[in-house]
Amino acid sequence: MSSSPLQVNCPTCNKLVTWNEESPYRPFCCKRCQLIDLGEWADEEKRIPSSGEISDNDEWSEEQE
Ligand SMILES: [Zn+2]
Repeated sequence: MSSSPLQVNCPTCNKLVTWNEESPYRPFCCKRCQLIDLGEWADEEKRIPSSGEISDNDEWSEEQE
């Protein structure tokens, strides 16, 4: 049994990240941390509408009605 998954710490927030296909942003834990490390988070933040209408939440908004 030597199949224990390789894990790394997110460079941005130190959260433990499993190094496999389930972590597309590895070594970061999430896209946000990746953007922060790349220095692009500031730009991304300006684009986020205050209304909360983010395209990633399509599924969620469907359940609203
Ligand atoms: Zn992180």
